[in-house]
Amino acid sequence: MLTTRAYAAQSAKAPLAPFSLERREPGTHDVLIDILYCGVCHSDLHQVRDDWGGATFPMVPGHEIVGRVARVGSAVTRFKAGDAVGVGCIVDSCRDCPSCRKGDEQYCDTGLVGTYNSRERDGVTPTYGGYSTHITVDENYVLRIPESLPLDRAAPLLCAGITTYSPLRHYGVKAGDRLAVVGLGGLGHMAVKLAKTMGAEVTVLSTSPSKRDDALALGATHFAATSNKDTFKNLTGRFDFILDTVSAPHDYNAYLNLLKVDGTMILVGAPEAPTPLAAFPLIMRRRKLGGSLIGGIRETQEMLDFCAKHGVASDIELIPIQKINEAYERMLKGDVRYRFVIDIASLRKA
Ligand code: NAP
Ligand code: ZN
Ligand code: ZN
Repeated sequence: MLTTRAYAAQSAKAPLAPFSLERREPGTHDVLIDILYCGVCHSDLHQVRDDWGGATFPMVPGHEIVGRVARVGSAVTRFKAGDAVGVGCIVDSCRDCPSCRKGDEQYCDTGLVGTYNSRERDGVTPTYGGYSTHITVDENYVLRIPESLPLDRAAPLLCAGITTYSPLRHYGVKAGDRLAVVGLGGLGHMAVKLAKTMGAEVTVLSTSPSKRDDALALGATHFAATSNKDTFKNLTGRFDFILDTVSAPHDYNAYLNLLKVDGTMILVGAPEAPTPLAAFPLIMRRRKLGGSLIGGIRETQEMLDFCAKHGVASDIELIPIQKINEAYERMLKGDVRYRFVIDIASLRKA
């Protein structure tokens, strides 16, 4: 076993603090990764605070992992020591159900093995995430990071990137479509960049008027403050798609009214509490409401290659791991420009 430094929460009320864990020696099909950077997703915060229920402790969050291969198992052919690699939210799945066979491992019938706050396929061994110096992962769940992408700015692509890329592709957002992105945080800013690159006309709907200039610089054509009641009147019936990335409960009905006939609102934000849904905003103009969970392994690689081709990466604030609890507090206030990324060198030195 490999003793590994990490940061963990011991309970839903506890701040993150130094922790030591054991990683397995790489098996035949495993890749051992020296972690260099790990993005901080709002899902880390939801899970550490047990917003969604079912949290297991101690918990080492982190599912936006980028590093270099240290060693590989004897049967590994796709990776070698020194390669730049990434690990997202999935480290295993059944590999046999219809979803796994299609490459939609995130919808595995038996439940995916999450990078943290989950159990390995043995149903017993807890998984620990990327706020740590090393991780051992089966090669089938390891992504290749194109060398042209800066590694720190690539880390958020492993969750924020794929979580927004996948629904844009699945729901068919195309050049010329009018898309509203609700919430300009980690997911939201990636949605703006990716949709703009795909040729969509992007509007950001935000609770933070101070983010207007950033939204336009990221590639949005329009910005509207949701605190202004006229926004909902002026934009009624305007959009083909709405991608909702908001982390806290809010009124979906108000946003549905902004869709055109046959428009689609896609939820990726995962607030802890349900929101009442009225029939009328859907019935009128035959609108649709859908959702999307991260993305499969093959599609994550496609997204990374797309980002490399078009020069897309996350806008980040690099922090030492010692600042993680402060970063969580800022994230709760919507004060993220636009993704915290932990420099894991700060954990090696600690
Ligand atoms: P984030 O960086 O904290 O961004 C969330 C943004 O939502 C904030 O920056 C803010 O943007 C807006 N917001 C926050 N509180 C709000 C409120 N009360 N009302 C309206 N808007 C509010 O979070 P993130 O990492 O992007 O994650 C966003 C959500 O997606 C989280 O719930 C996370 O768990 C979920 N998620 C889902 C998946 C999936 O597979 N579906 C994957 C990853 C994350 P403005 O300042 O612009 O209003
Ligand atoms: Zn995430
Ligand atoms: Zn499966």
